[in-house]
Amino acid sequence: MREPVRTTCPYCGVGCGVLVTPSDGGFTVRGDPEHPANLGRLCSKGAALGETLSLDDRLLYPEIEGARVSWDTSLDTVARRFRSVIDEHGPDAVAFYVSGQLLTEDYYVANKLMKGFIGSANIDTNSRLCMSSAVAGQKRAFGADTVPACYEDLEIADLVTLVGSNAAWAHPVVFQRIAAAKHARPGMKVVVIDPRRTATCDIADLHLAMAPGADAWLFLGLLNHLRRAGAIDWAYLERHTQDFGAALTEVAELTIPGVAAQCGLSEADVASYYRLFTVTPKAVTLFSQGINQSSSGVDKVNAILNVHLATGRVGQPGASPFSITGQPNAMGGREVGGLANQLAAHMDFTPEAIDRVSRFWEAPSIAKKPGLKAVELFDAVRDGRIKALWVMATNPAVSLPDADRAVAAMRACPFVVLSDNNRDTDTARLAHVRLPAAAWGEKNGTVTNSERRISRQRPFLPLPAEARPDWWIVAEVAKRMGFENAFNYREPSEIFAEHAALSGFENDSRRDFDISGLLSLTTGSAVGAKEEHPSFAVAYDTLKPIQWPVTEAGRGTARMFGSGRYYHESGKARLVAAPPRPPAHAPDAGRPFVFNTGRIRDQWHTMTRSGKSARLLAHIDEPFVELHPDDLRRIGLQPGGLARVRGASGAVLARVTSSPEQRPGSVFTPIHWSGCHSAQARVGALIPAVTDPISGQPEFKQAPVAVEPYAAGWHGFVLSRQPLDCTEAEYWTRVRGRAGWRHELAGLEADCPWPDRLRQRFGQEDGWIVMHDRAHKRYRLALLQSDRVEIVAFFDREPTALPPRQWLESLFVKAALDDAERAALLLGRPSRAAPDSGRIVCACLGVGEHDIRRAIADGASSVDALGTKLKAGTNCGSCIPELKRMLANT
Ligand code: SF4
Repeated sequence: MREPVRTTCPYCGVGCGVLVTPSDGGFTVRGDPEHPANLGRLCSKGAALGETLSLDDRLLYPEIEGARVSWDTSLDTVARRFRSVIDEHGPDAVAFYVSGQLLTEDYYVANKLMKGFIGSANIDTNSRLCMSSAVAGQKRAFGADTVPACYEDLEIADLVTLVGSNAAWAHPVVFQRIAAAKHARPGMKVVVIDPRRTATCDIADLHLAMAPGADAWLFLGLLNHLRRAGAIDWAYLERHTQDFGAALTEVAELTIPGVAAQCGLSEADVASYYRLFTVTPKAVTLFSQGINQSSSGVDKVNAILNVHLATGRVGQPGASPFSITGQPNAMGGREVGGLANQLAAHMDFTPEAIDRVSRFWEAPSIAKKPGLKAVELFDAVRDGRIKALWVMATNPAVSLPDADRAVAAMRACPFVVLSDNNRDTDTARLAHVRLPAAAWGEKNGTVTNSERRISRQRPFLPLPAEARPDWWIVAEVAKRMGFENAFNYREPSEIFAEHAALSGFENDSRRDFDISGLLSLTTGSAVGAKEEHPSFAVAYDTLKPIQWPVTEAGRGTARMFGSGRYYHESGKARLVAAPPRPPAHAPDAGRPFVFNTGRIRDQWHTMTRSGKSARLLAHIDEPFVELHPDDLRRIGLQPGGLARVRGASGAVLARVTSSPEQRPGSVFTPIHWSGCHSAQARVGALIPAVTDPISGQPEFKQAPVAVEPYAAGWHGFVLSRQPLDCTEAEYWTRVRGRAGWRHELAGLEADCPWPDRLRQRFGQEDGWIVMHDRAHKRYRLALLQSDRVEIVAFFDREPTALPPRQWLESLFVKAALDDAERAALLLGRPSRAAPDSGRIVCACLGVGEHDIRRAIADGASSVDALGTKLKAGTNCGSCIPELKRMLANT
């Protein structure tokens, strides 16, 4: 057996280490017990990585207008078109839109090309959509974009507040670490602040289900409460902060009743939280997209940072604010300057920094001012100011707010390039040139997680066909644009060495981001010039996870600001006085609901990778609209039916789910479904393009919407070996099953047209088994070839009349059906009744909801007992919150 390859999970910002070992023609993926981020744990997504490595859907060759071309042709074309736009219209007429999926080395080269050599700062990243408010807030407070804390702080804190974070689903291993710490120390308190009761609330001592968007009130009120309670650390404020007077004056009138009224909370709950925070010195406040994705996100971040600064709880063991990033390398992108308003290596567009970076890069044409942030950038594409756009490793046609406007922008753009792994995405369909990039398992470089920990992503697969690393693609275009000397990289280690050298260049401890100590691991040479680092490649290959800053060889930094020294000129932190602001658009009679978006447990972004694992689709496989049962009743919706959600700019059509854990008046829909997976479930289409005025981060959590029933005349599903084009149906979703594809369909027609449509597509006679009850508009049909099932389709007037899909899907795994299976096929269930397992809850071990309920009814009264009986929850643990909820509710 070969040694496992030590690499890093490509999904979320937790940045778990994984060990990949070849097995049975595939790969086994397990958590790396030596990686400090996860200590061997993985969530369901990480555990299923081995199932996402197929080359189906991969972009394997360069293409222009859909036709395969050579690398030389495609690179020459990109370089020539960019060069001609720049020559004719200037450097600001071109743009890059990049991604937190890129490795740091890829990011570095793209940023260097755009800002250093093209001479524009029109490079922005999809991380703008997830954490740019945290960046801006931290810069205002600390003088630098620095996360002060580390994951260990979450375990040693006596109070962990999770605000705007469903960590149980979005950052599961961090959640597991908190849950394990609480289990070991039951005195530790956990508070969750979220309009929804999410899976994260399962470990909460207190859940504050606050009104959407009211977070700032809560933290500004807390600041005043701390003052009144005598809990302000005045000595710390005097010594280490400035501007605290204005911040305290601004909140002086806030009372618990006033805050409770603004937040839609009880006074007792607000008082209870304030008391906990006041008396618990070791307090960590973990915040995420629920805070950042707001038109006042930066002010909300500063409201949180203010209470930590006021109590001296920053960068202390178990006491700190903690912004957790969404993407695997959002932090790495910030390090290199992937945001349009940063220059490089945590330097801004100051005259001094521009001069410094220009000398370091030997780039006389360096950009002199910030570029356009994501939403502005696509507006500029739309109105023709940007005439050439290069999108790298992301899917803005789905993920941007007002996503149809982004689609229109790319459609109107004279030249769109996409470098990506996937051949068919919503954005790929709009690109003139498609360049095949390396995927996880093939990439070689580094990523930085939410606790500033740099880890290696190492390859364990060869590059397939003509796929190439992103850094290579960008460097080749740069060379063809005339910048040979600056982009002559042979290996990612050379790029990383240059990145590390820039971080230390004329730094003198004035900038937080400094990893120059990594260079002296092998060279022992002074940092600050672009020496060759011949032996660095070896150290790079074996680099162990380490937290920046690293100014001495091999010594990382777990926490920042513990000494009270910050990065403003004064060396002090700033408390920011900012009054609370409501969301940009309030619900009204026409759009009375607040639309909230987020992730689900087992999917990642637009499902281009996680959607390849049938196991990950077993938990939730359809886009849904979740409302409180009272709201469902009021507007006449049935769980299991369909509903249309209309926003100002677009609509979503999805399955209705009912949850008492949803706040009345709110609607939740996950972000993952794209135009490749569904007819109308791109949530970005109905989010207005409203952004925070400082960070440019869009408000994804508080769009006013209307919800109405979709009066389908029929519902159905089709299971097939090959994916079907379903676009003739008004409602469709398409996901992978165990050995084929599953399509859910519905339409307004009184009689379902799909039985005839399927037979027209796949032949009228041979191999079909058909059972039609036209009087009741009930249709069942299956296509068999040599006793192997090719297609099974069921249609009915009501969705509840359709059978569960699991048994039918299992037939696709078989080479041939036996007589009993064949006879039962159109019943939709086995002739000898086997218990239906129900919806899969434990994705790792395939344990269904009905099995769990039966086990609970038989006496299993704890998660451990369910694990013993069914094995549920015994692998990655991501389903444990759901198991606990089922135990509590049964
Ligand atoms: Fe990957 Fe899950 Fe770890 Fe996130 S928590 S890095 S998705 S294994």
